[in-house]
Amino acid sequence: MNPAHYKDGELHVEGVPLSRIAAEIGTPCYVYSRAALTEAYLAFTAAFDGHPHLVCYAVKANSNLAILDLFSRLGSGFDIVSGGELERVIAAGGDPSKIVFSGVGKSEREIRSALEAGILCLNVESESELERIDRIAGELGTRAPVSLRVNPDVDAGTHPYIATGLNQSKFGIPYAAAPGLYDKARTLRHVRIDGIDCHIGSQLTELEPIAEALEKIRDLVERLARDGLTLKHIDVGGGIGIRYQNEAPPTIRDYARVVLGAFDTRKYKLLFEPGRMLVGNAGLLLTRIEYLKKGADRNFAIVDAAMNDLIRPALYEAWHDIQPVREGGRPDTYDIVGPVCETGDFLARGRRLAANEGDLLAIMSAGAYGMSMASNYNTRPRAAEVMVDDDQLYVVREREQVHDLIVREHRLPAR
Ligand SMILES: *Cc1c(COP(=O)(O)O)cnc(C)c1O
Repeated sequence: MNPAHYKDGELHVEGVPLSRIAAEIGTPCYVYSRAALTEAYLAFTAAFDGHPHLVCYAVKANSNLAILDLFSRLGSGFDIVSGGELERVIAAGGDPSKIVFSGVGKSEREIRSALEAGILCLNVESESELERIDRIAGELGTRAPVSLRVNPDVDAGTHPYIATGLNQSKFGIPYAAAPGLYDKARTLRHVRIDGIDCHIGSQLTELEPIAEALEKIRDLVERLARDGLTLKHIDVGGGIGIRYQNEAPPTIRDYARVVLGAFDTRKYKLLFEPGRMLVGNAGLLLTRIEYLKKGADRNFAIVDAAMNDLIRPALYEAWHDIQPVREGGRPDTYDIVGPVCETGDFLARGRRLAANEGDLLAIMSAGAYGMSMASNYNTRPRAAEVMVDDDQLYVVREREQVHDLIVREHRLPAR
């Protein structure tokens, strides 16, 4: 569902005109649609209706408390990658017993707080981490629920920075080493082996690599069962892509067919870690044109949002659709750029657009890996975030102030 539509010549999110948001909250501002978030979650879980499963929303895609709260109320669990995300989920009212913890570098403190909170499972990414978890669980007098994250060595066919399932990637336990590490885990007194996990990348637009990875995981699960180790759950990760431009990602139904074809859900509960798919198209970044500038060989629309607000174009050369908030006018071709002092600070290049100084633009599909990757580069306070619910508007993150940025810094003592 695209939450934005034109009414009377003006772009709205649900029942709220974007000009109202700009007037009340200012720009740049992230705008999310409660209806679109809800619909994305419900469509995902409905595809696995009748099969025991738990959706663990990948918090890093968008970690705003209101979004975590919304998914939690819908019954979601969470996939976290840091102690900070654990605190966020708890602050948002999420249920710790529905949290899985992924990531290659879990610190002592993070493991300890996850065990104290009583999370569902730690997805273990190395032998050293397994030993660390066993020791900490022993100190706490408990048994840590673990899965091994296995790297199936398949090419997910996505941008190299977000491909995680190849042998050269830092993620997961090499496929060939997994049986040996399961054997070792069985000898440890303070871990309980609950499952297996894999996640081969993000923005996946093909089903074949997913099917290939899941087949390898199934072979491993069957081998473990023959050796007398029966797992409780299979975590198939996240990564289904969304449409930014003209991609044709698999539908959730097609994805479900592949997953349900691979595993017997009477024996194993399925866990999912979708991020982008639940939030990406439910959000946009609202920005205002400060200046139009004729360069020597191209036209620039210089807007008040920048790479610090949305780094995907600079980082992955990602494409985001740009829509004018008011329709009409004579189009020309522009690069949409921010105020940051980097040539990489562009949001879109070579777009046909009717643009005037002062106009509002919507940068579409910005709900995932937008605000959660924002920085303060160039001492730019981070944008506000709002949630639209029908004709209601809720500020879910106030605009940062420069004071917030410098308050923990200190000048040198006088001498
Ligand atoms: C980032 C990540 C996800 C979510 O990926 P999406 O492409 O946003 O669905 C899921 N699991 C793990 C382990 C991740 O690192």
